[in-house]
Amino acid sequence: MIAERLLDSDAGTETPRLSSFIGGRFDDSTAYGHFEVIDPATSRVIAYVAEAGEAGVDRAVLAGESAFPAWRNTPARERAVLVQELAKRVEANAEALALLDALDTGNPLTAMRPDVAKGVRLMREAAGLALQITGVTYPIPGLHYTVREPWGVVGRLITFNHPAMFACARLGAALVAGNCVVLKPSELAPLATLAIAELTAGLLPAGVVSVVGGGPATGAAIVAHPRILRISFTGSTATALRIQTGAAASGRIKTLSFELGGKNPIIVWPDVDRDEVASAIVRGMNFTRVQGQSCGSTSRLVIHESIAEDVLDRVAERASKIRIGMPMDPATEMGAMITTAARDRCLEIVDRAVRSGARVVSGAAIPADPALGHGAFIAPTVVDQVAPGSELANEELFGPVLAAMTWRTEDEALALANAGHYGLTAAIWTQDIDRALRMAERVEAGYLWINDVETRFPAVPFGGWGDSGVGLKHGIEEILSFTRVKAVNVRVR
Ligand code: NAD
Repeated sequence: MIAERLLDSDAGTETPRLSSFIGGRFDDSTAYGHFEVIDPATSRVIAYVAEAGEAGVDRAVLAGESAFPAWRNTPARERAVLVQELAKRVEANAEALALLDALDTGNPLTAMRPDVAKGVRLMREAAGLALQITGVTYPIPGLHYTVREPWGVVGRLITFNHPAMFACARLGAALVAGNCVVLKPSELAPLATLAIAELTAGLLPAGVVSVVGGGPATGAAIVAHPRILRISFTGSTATALRIQTGAAASGRIKTLSFELGGKNPIIVWPDVDRDEVASAIVRGMNFTRVQGQSCGSTSRLVIHESIAEDVLDRVAERASKIRIGMPMDPATEMGAMITTAARDRCLEIVDRAVRSGARVVSGAAIPADPALGHGAFIAPTVVDQVAPGSELANEELFGPVLAAMTWRTEDEALALANAGHYGLTAAIWTQDIDRALRMAERVEAGYLWINDVETRFPAVPFGGWGDSGVGLKHGIEEILSFTRVKAVNVRVR
C-alpha cells in the first residue's frame, strides 16, 4: 500500500517515489521526471510524484477507451454496487487517508477524519442515485423518448483543500454515470488521491479509473486531449479561463464545468443575536479545518454599522482563541496553509489594504511559536474598514482573512453583497423573514444560507454564478452532467 510507504517513511528512510495509476496499476514509464510534494507544516519533502505529462495522459485515455465499452454496458445497478464497494474500501482505509491529507495539506488531522468520511458518504450517495439516470417519453404520436448515455473518457481536475473528499465525490458521480475517468489531483496534495486509485485495483476493471500525477502541464494535456470531451475542474478562476482557451485550441468542442472561487458575503442586520452571529462569522470563515482555504468561506463581512464594532470585538475574541498547531496534534484547530507563498500573499494583500486605510482587528501575523517556524502558518486575521471595490474587498485570498465593510441602508447592503465578479455563496443574517427572503431573491450567488453558514445539505446542488463557476455538483445534477441526452423517435405505422 502506498499509504503505508508514505506514512512509515521518516527522515532516515528514502523519500518515496510515486507514479501515476494508469490501466489498473502504477505506471512508471513517464518521461517527464518527478516533482516534490512538500509537507506545508514543516517544509519537508515527503514524496516525489511522477509528472504524467502528455504521454501519461494519452496512456490513461487509451486505457479508459479500452475499458469503456464493457463499463458502459455494465448495468447502472451493478456499477453502483462497485462504487459502494469502493466507498467501503475507502472507509476501511479512512485513517490512513486522513493522515495522508493532513501530511499533504497542513490541515488538522482532526478535520481530515470527517472530511474522508464525507467523501465516503458522497460516493455512497452517488451510487444510490444510479437508477435515477433516466430519460423521458413525449405525449405525441409514435414513440419518442430520450436516454442518457455516458460521455466516454472524462477528465476531472481537482484542487488541494479536501483531496480525499474531492477524489471520492468526483469519481463517484462520473463512474455511476458509466464514464471512465482520468483524474488529476493537485500537484500540491496528490497523495490521498493516488492511494484511493490503488484501492480501485482488483475492484474496478483496469482503465476505468486512472489518476495522473502532475501540475499545470499535465492538466493542460487533459484539456488538450482530442478525445476527452467532458472536463470538470475545481480550482481558481484564472486557471478556468486558461482551460477555456486550451479547450478551444484543441480544435474540439468540449463541455466544461467549473467549481471556482468566491469572495462570499455574510450580510448582517442589527436584529441578530450578536454572540450567535459572531460564532457564525468565525465558522463561516473556516479558520479551523482548512485555514480559510474553502471556496464557500464567507470571507466578506457586510454588517450594519450600528453593531459592527461590537460584533467584530466578539469575532476577534473567538478568533484569537483558535489553537494553531501542527496538523497531527489532536489539540490543533488550525494548521498550516498549503504553501508559504500562499500565506505570504495573504499578508501582502492585507498590508496593501492597511496602507490604504483598512484596520487590522486581529491576526495578520505569523505565529511566534518556534515549533511552527518552518511551516506556512498564519494567525486568523480580521480586517475592517476595508474599502469597497478594493483588492481585499473583491479578490479571493483563499486564506484565513476576513474583510469587513459596513452599511446603513438595505440598498447599500445589497450593492456591497453583489459587488465583485464572483457569485458562489452568501449568508443572510436577520430575524425578519420577509427581509431575508427579499434579500435572497436579489443576492447574486449560487448557494445561499439564511441564518446559517458553511453547512452543505445532502443532495442540494452546489454551484457558482459569475466567475465562481459553471455547472452543479452534489446530487443528481452532477451525475446527469456526466451523461449526454439522446432522443430516439419511433414512427408507428
Ligand atoms: P489552481 O487553479 O491553481 O489549480 C487547480 C488545478 O488546476 C491544479 O490541479 C493544477 O495543477 C491545475 N492546473 C493549473 N494550470 C492548469 C492549466 N493551464 N490547465 C489545466 N489544469 C491546470 O487552483 P488552486 O489554488 O489549486 O485551488 C484554489 C481555488 O479552488 C480557489 O479559487 C478555490 O475557491 C477553488 N475551489 C473551488 C471549489 C468549488 O467547489 N467551487 C472547491 C474548492 C476550491
